[in-house]
Amino acid sequence: MSFYEPAHEKLLLRARAVGTSLAGREEPRALVEALAREGLLRVFAPGRLRARPLCALREGLAHASSLADTMFVMQGLGSYPIAHSGNAALVHRYVEEAAAGRRIAAFALTEPEAGSDAASLRTTARRVRGGWVLDGLKTLISNAGVADFYTVFARTGAKELSAFVVDADAPGLTVARRIELIAPHPIGDVAFRECRVPEAARLGVRGSGLETAFATLDLFRPSVGAAAVGLAQRALDEAVERVKTRRQFGSALSDFQGTRFRLAEMQVELDAARLLVQRAAWLWDLGRERPTLAAAEAKLFATEAAQRIVDSAVQLHGGLGVVRGVVVERLYREVRALRIYEGTSEIQKLIIARELLHPRTRPPRRRSPDRGSLRDATPPRATSQGHPGGVSLRPHTDNTGP
Ligand SMILES: Cc1cc2nc3c(=O)[nH]c(=O)nc-3n(C[C@H](O)[C@H](O)[C@H](O)COP(=O)(O)OP(=O)(O)OC[C@H]3O[C@@H](n4cnc5c(N)ncnc54)[C@H](O)[C@@H]3O)c2cc1C
Repeated sequence: MSFYEPAHEKLLLRARAVGTSLAGREEPRALVEALAREGLLRVFAPGRLRARPLCALREGLAHASSLADTMFVMQGLGSYPIAHSGNAALVHRYVEEAAAGRRIAAFALTEPEAGSDAASLRTTARRVRGGWVLDGLKTLISNAGVADFYTVFARTGAKELSAFVVDADAPGLTVARRIELIAPHPIGDVAFRECRVPEAARLGVRGSGLETAFATLDLFRPSVGAAAVGLAQRALDEAVERVKTRRQFGSALSDFQGTRFRLAEMQVELDAARLLVQRAAWLWDLGRERPTLAAAEAKLFATEAAQRIVDSAVQLHGGLGVVRGVVVERLYREVRALRIYEGTSEIQKLIIARELLHPRTRPPRRRSPDRGSLRDATPPRATSQGHPGGVSLRPHTDNTGP
């Protein structure tokens, strides 16, 4: 059985072609506009967001351009909480605009003292007449300084988090710092000082912020695995080409058994990663329960495997593998962050263990009507039981990290 259908495979190839045409371009807004022109952002249009098109597109884009993949996924990560919990007016104002590439989105959860333990965040939202006032500092926020709006998670009570959508030009919101990473990625700190937002900017009911964040992460974590698969596939492709042409000791490197063993291990790890990603995405698309366990497995395995595969590709290139500008050198820098963001590998292991030790059935995910041609691949008939998604052992305080 294949978890992907021909429509998903076509999307993957299309995203690869688009990514190739965008490779080397580094201007975030121009990339978003190009992705919109190519129709790829329509996957995020209001309606039920499917995981398999999302993952197929990420794998294809990451094969060619990590930055194009980042700009693509941030439009979803920043807008999905609004699609999930926001009212029709917010969906119209932000989700539709993000899916059209007219507004750039960001997701602001992490704080200097609240990374893996996201539930301990300190940014506050204080109730005032007609709205809320936000105070606090968010760090490592992708699209800081680029975004037109931020989905912000803030404390509205001692044991209560809520989500808000905040326009980038809201008085009191400043981009406190741009952070440079080892690979191109727009990111920085966002500060809120007496930042006033209207009552209508709150997503869902008061206190539902963490649930919104976790629902978002259950959907997007497999897609991090998909991006890892795209990077790893590119590394393997590069390695295969190199060992066929590079000669040492009178033979092509590909003639040595040691090289062949390494290629075989890379290929098997890649396929295993891809299958875990596709299974998690398929489970999401079935729509029964949130596939928390499968999402964490996919993210953990695929990102760790991709790191090993890229490292092997560098090794097979010898000294050339660490020369600035060579593809595998770039992949080596780009793959590293995937094991950290949207929950580190260690946090994925904690989630997996928690799901094993204390499985509980989640309420079904919210369903909404499908729209858009990129979103309508029919899920295969279920041949296995949907797995019981889990909830926190300690709701709203467990470590699950952004
Ligand atoms: C490229 C990139 C983009 C990002 N984009 C965003 C974004 O758009 N929005 C956003 O909100 N955040 C974003 N982040 C932040 C990211 O989600 C956090 O970096 C991540 O959740 C880890 O938090 P931390 O950096 O504070 O590490 P820490 O939580 O300090 O963890 C440090 C180490 O300790 C380990 N650790 C922590 N707790 C435990 C435990 N209980 N058991 C065992 N080990 C543990 C971790 O696994 C890690 O290895 C981004 C990060 C990166 C690198």
